[in-house]
Amino acid sequence: MPATRPVIAVAGLGIESSTFSPARTEAPAFHPQRGTDVLTRYPFLAPGQPLLAAADWRGALVGKALPGGTVTASAYAALSAELIDRLKQSGPVDGLWFDIHGAMTVEGMDDAEVELLARVRETVGPDVIVSTSMDLHGNVSRELVHLTDLITCYRMAPHEDAMETKERAARNLVGHLTGGGPRPVKAWIPVPVLLAGEQTSTRIEPAKSVYAAVEDVAAAEGVTDAAIWVGYAWADEPRNRAAVVVTGPDEAAVAAGAERLARGFWDARHDFAFVAPTGTLADCLDEALASTARPYFISDTGDNPTAGGAGDVTWSLREVLARPELRDPSGPTVLYASLPGPAAVEEAVRAGVGATVTVTAGAEVDDRHSGPLTLTGVVHAVRHGDRDAQTEVVLRVGGVHVILTRLRKPYHHEHDFTDLALDPRTADVVIVKIGYLEPELFDMAADWKMALTPGGVDQDLTRLGHHRIRRPMFPFDPAMPDPDLTARIIPSPDRPLGGAEE
Ligand SMILES: [Zn+2]
Repeated sequence: MPATRPVIAVAGLGIESSTFSPARTEAPAFHPQRGTDVLTRYPFLAPGQPLLAAADWRGALVGKALPGGTVTASAYAALSAELIDRLKQSGPVDGLWFDIHGAMTVEGMDDAEVELLARVRETVGPDVIVSTSMDLHGNVSRELVHLTDLITCYRMAPHEDAMETKERAARNLVGHLTGGGPRPVKAWIPVPVLLAGEQTSTRIEPAKSVYAAVEDVAAAEGVTDAAIWVGYAWADEPRNRAAVVVTGPDEAAVAAGAERLARGFWDARHDFAFVAPTGTLADCLDEALASTARPYFISDTGDNPTAGGAGDVTWSLREVLARPELRDPSGPTVLYASLPGPAAVEEAVRAGVGATVTVTAGAEVDDRHSGPLTLTGVVHAVRHGDRDAQTEVVLRVGGVHVILTRLRKPYHHEHDFTDLALDPRTADVVIVKIGYLEPELFDMAADWKMALTPGGVDQDLTRLGHHRIRRPMFPFDPAMPDPDLTARIIPSPDRPLGGAEE
């Protein structure tokens, strides 16, 4: 173990992918960065930052995709092969920071992150210290904990602490490599609960208190880090469930901390509720139109692209446009974000701002709930060059301003609207394909409601039809007995995992 300036590789692939969506994810969606370019992702590794100076950081390959459908086998093969090749080129390392999401599904694989980390381990060897950083919606199998040394995840949903979490994972790795000492002890506890992310926002109880305990546990003597994963509900794999891991030098301390967190999560299981009032889309529209709160936000949740929806489900927009009071140009101002339709966008761009066009969009990927939608409206805005959407147009259909995109894009920020000559603050109703509102939208909303709409990330989990998750599982088996919530001490990566699969 070096006394100073350890050599640390950075590698990882991250996506949250729904097995309930017909969409498929290809390699370019990961926007892979390579070599020294990898470091530019992280402000805490910018020139002048102390953490940059503390180690010799070597970027291998890091790619992060928007949530989407299952990753194709060929995309995974290409990205993982390049990641491993680049890792080999980095030469021997003391540590590796594995920056992933944890809910990547790949055609033909049940635990893609374990497959990837096993290949990374074959390359760097069993003695290299690996620190893994994840989204709290990732899944943590026993095998994943075995292959890593340190592991942590976000403590906030929405993920306002994403960069802070990555920094902590990197800092803990540097701390271990420069401070010496034995490999961290890892206490893992699977918690048989599978909930929608929208029921587990840390803004409100019970997740607020459940997660508040994480900082407490992490601050205890003998503990390096502590984390609770909610898990990912929209994939049907045996690994999907909640989990707790606490790492550190002291076995008794990490075990006690993990048991406290697992017990807290399990005991709260009946109290998790949606973060906002929910209803059918029709209920939400009725309430929005009757309300004086402006702007009134409606989450169109079933096709949320940032949870893995295809993004091109037309069901909700069809319902919106079917309401005569919304088609009235002198009626309320409604913003709808968004619907992909490359041909429709091209036609609107060709016609130009101010022109009236009839175009057809949507349902190219997910047509299970409603077919392609034909719209006649006035082109209100055109914008080129977006990283996700590439090209966006706004079509005004009566009072409804429909954002059409070439490729799917999440609308999380005020500028996503103002860049398109739309002002969400003065609109009456803003409908967004999203789950819980991201902070900027949440702050702007005078009131909001979540519409339980159909799509690849339907919030009503029981409508999806899971077949392969472990049972019993709450809430699928509401009367299940109390599970074993004692800490499992997982062997370090240089020793066999052994024991029974669970
Ligand atoms: Zn997440």
